[in-house]
Amino acid sequence: MKTTVLKNVRVLDTESCEVTHYDNVVLNGGRIAELNHAPVQEDGREVIDCKGLTLMPGLIDCHVHINMSSWSTVQNATLPNSLVAARAARILNGMLMRGFTTVRDVGGADRGYVMAIEEGTIVGPDLVICGKMLCQTGGHQDVRAKWDEQDPEYLRFQLGSKSHICDGVPEVRKAVRQEIRAGAQFIKIIANGGLAPTGVPITHLAFSEEEIAAIVEEAIIADTYVAAHAYTDKAIERCVRLGVRTIEHCVFVSEKTARMMKEKGCFAVPTMATFETLEDKSSSMTPEQQARAQQARESAYNAMVILKEAGVPMAFGTDLTHISLHYHQSDEFTYRSRVLPAKDVLQSATINAARLLRKEHEIGNVFAGAKANLLLVEGNPAEDATLLSKPVNMRLIIKNGEVIKNTVA
Ligand SMILES: [Zn+2]
Repeated sequence: MKTTVLKNVRVLDTESCEVTHYDNVVLNGGRIAELNHAPVQEDGREVIDCKGLTLMPGLIDCHVHINMSSWSTVQNATLPNSLVAARAARILNGMLMRGFTTVRDVGGADRGYVMAIEEGTIVGPDLVICGKMLCQTGGHQDVRAKWDEQDPEYLRFQLGSKSHICDGVPEVRKAVRQEIRAGAQFIKIIANGGLAPTGVPITHLAFSEEEIAAIVEEAIIADTYVAAHAYTDKAIERCVRLGVRTIEHCVFVSEKTARMMKEKGCFAVPTMATFETLEDKSSSMTPEQQARAQQARESAYNAMVILKEAGVPMAFGTDLTHISLHYHQSDEFTYRSRVLPAKDVLQSATINAARLLRKEHEIGNVFAGAKANLLLVEGNPAEDATLLSKPVNMRLIIKNGEVIKNTVA
């Protein structure tokens, strides 16, 4: 088994946000074997002198869509599957080079990507998938034209489509079972309208309470949880009350609902990057849609303050679409830093995200036994999280013990 020794490092603990100097951190077989305060025998092992820079866990993004490379979801759903996959490979590699060693795809990615990453065919972050997202007929991700009465089943086989259309309790139960069978590690639902120009107004809810409760029950049967796309307070309240565990976007959450999220152990996944890049998409929006998007952006900042006040754990999310926008992923650190302390922003992309994924025993912090998914960075991100917005500050990127980038030597 390959052993690498990282010597002369300052290790940032993402829980306490304290920094401790170690003489060396030994990596073995893709894991952190030990952290030592005394020099070790180097005899033939790969040794990297980290020059006292900060070692921290690889970043985690809990809201991505690796299959999204077009301006619109409608257009994306019509692309050839091979083109979608080829672009996704590039998108995934870009994420890893920005320091993201784990990402959660919240609609679209299938098991083939997980296999391709595991075998090394795609060099990208570890991927957590939900398969297609569950959406009701006429819901926010039913991308068929209004005059298209085809059976929506075909959308399940378009790689660039994110949705699995299902209605009524028996169908939603079956849809969950189909996604789980195909490799889903959690279930995603569309529980609200949205901001997309071709989508459904934000005032619409989606799925009946009976349907949501059935989806939650099926997810629990499969030992997993449900994530919901929800903007309005009404949509969020309903999901939280019915047992949904992670609320995506969470833009118009009220203080009362935030307190309920805290009581129920929910996570919020704000996605500022997608709102901050709306101007790039504005050519496809009417002035009224643009005004609403602007309002959503302001509310999304306010929501983070409300969630922090209520003590709701927040995880890092970006929700970027067009292939030319994915590089804004790292800017999420800067956006969040406008309203949250550096410590909270850092934890959203490390320890909180690991807990959301139920993987805190192996990722999200630096400890013996953890996966060797590591970054060596300039400065201290617990004091200034915007450092993570600049990939140039990442002098070393290590995934599963393999050095992906090294500019420290
Ligand atoms: Zn999304």
